[in-house]
Amino acid sequence: MAAQGSYPDAGRIVDTMGKDLERLKQRIPLLEYLQRHHWTGHQVSARSEFVGLCPLHEETQPSFYVNAQKNLFYCHGCGRGGDLIRFVELSRHLSFRQCVDYLEEEFAPTAQLLHHTAAFYQLELRRYPEGIAYVAQRGVHDPHLIEELGIGYARGGNLRPHLQNLGYSLERVLEMGLIGPQGPDAFCRRVIFPCRHQDRIVNLYGRSIGSAFPHRLLPRSKGGLFAWETVRQFRNVILVEGLFDLAVLWQAGFRNTTCAIGTRLTPMQLQQLRANPDRCIYIAFDQDENQAGQNAADALLQCLDQAGLHVRIVSLPAGHDPNSYFVAGATAKDFAHLLEEAPSL
Ligand SMILES: [Zn+2]
Repeated sequence: MAAQGSYPDAGRIVDTMGKDLERLKQRIPLLEYLQRHHWTGHQVSARSEFVGLCPLHEETQPSFYVNAQKNLFYCHGCGRGGDLIRFVELSRHLSFRQCVDYLEEEFAPTAQLLHHTAAFYQLELRRYPEGIAYVAQRGVHDPHLIEELGIGYARGGNLRPHLQNLGYSLERVLEMGLIGPQGPDAFCRRVIFPCRHQDRIVNLYGRSIGSAFPHRLLPRSKGGLFAWETVRQFRNVILVEGLFDLAVLWQAGFRNTTCAIGTRLTPMQLQQLRANPDRCIYIAFDQDENQAGQNAADALLQCLDQAGLHVRIVSLPAGHDPNSYFVAGATAKDFAHLLEEAPSL
């Protein structure tokens, strides 16, 4: 049991950073933060203390205590404790300053607005058959995967009243680029993939199901590599151009697939790949007839090679990208074979 006073003193942080930080921590109670990140704790007797498994180390017996009143945690297993900022530092391996930025952004209206929009589009995918029909036509059938990736559908026309009901001003929604000046959704008739960075939605990608230009992102940063929180643990990483390529590969069991949304890496995305110098990257871009995909892969290869990474180029049958390859009937075994054959440089 956590004895009174076993929580480290939070005074250090209050003294150094002052009142803004206190306000931030009041706005985001530690317990609420942990629960949003799927921590479950049981209340200890009648006190405002909770206990559960430690998110900072592997354990089977709960020894992670949270005092909801004091906004402090302490783990008797690994001996670590502190306040919300300390928890974020330890769990996300961020500096103190990065933690503050992360928390500010996570609980800022931007992240929330995008979260509400993505959740709404997820519901619309179930409401309108044309969205799910398109997803199926692109070879994605697994309902768990659709849920996990947060795939949605924007039929168009419904988002504005929905967000206004939630209390967002029209200016805010316009400024974010979610609706056009005339009123319809910017993503009208598009299948939506939310782009996350460190668990929060930073942008939305919309694939047109009609005749409009196929690709659309909101006019803001697309964040890092897609699903990097999941993929970063792998030494071998498959890099694809599009999110439907990623979806079919995840569905086939290649969960080490990430996507830059396009053929160019941003400095942040390159940095992510470089973080592990032993990493091997399999580039699986489109093999289009006009060589554009091939040229893009070659350009990227130079860039990754200069960064000291091992790179292999996956050679798909002519005219195919990973998505169309699977839609045409390829199996996980077929793709694994292409990975084996991919020349190393
Ligand atoms: Zn622990």
